[in-house]
Amino acid sequence: MDKTIQRIAQGYLRFRAEFLAESGDFYRKLAVNGQKPRVAIISCSDSRVDPAVITDTNPGDMFDLRNVANLIPERTSETAWGVRAALQFAIEVLEVEHFIVCGHSGCGGIQGARRNQVIGPQGQHLEDLSFWLRHLSEKLAILESQAEELEPELRDEFYEKIGIINSLGNLFTFPQIEKKVKEGTLHLHG
Ligand SMILES: [Zn+2]
Repeated sequence: MDKTIQRIAQGYLRFRAEFLAESGDFYRKLAVNGQKPRVAIISCSDSRVDPAVITDTNPGDMFDLRNVANLIPERTSETAWGVRAALQFAIEVLEVEHFIVCGHSGCGGIQGARRNQVIGPQGQHLEDLSFWLRHLSEKLAILESQAEELEPELRDEFYEKIGIINSLGNLFTFPQIEKKVKEGTLHLHG
């Protein structure tokens, strides 16, 4: 077996033998009672940004959505179905009270969105990634002249924050979310 996969498989066995054995009650209750997180979070798929790790939270605390560039497309977008399904479950079934859009520094997805066309390591056009990031590309292009006024080292952060604001704004294209925010039963955070 490949060493990396072996390490992951052994980690899982260790988790079952040690961690699960020590915190068995905690997991048993989650399994029996079901999940009731008060928070949903969307973050980037980036392997360095694990929401539970960086927020020091436990299984059962947050309902996670992850995709490239922590992107919430507008509800009517043809690429939105996966996000729509997860949002509907979080909002209408779990009835979370808080929704967090979590961006991060050094986001390759945001950098790809800036270029409008994502090019792979062999110079190949990555059309699926480009298509996914297209919605954000259009928004970032509008703000290019503002970004140019910033020091170069601040531009990445500027675009990463615009990515967060864009996703927060697009949450309002989901009627159930808009309704709950207006009622004060759902709070959005970036
Ligand atoms: Zn990222």
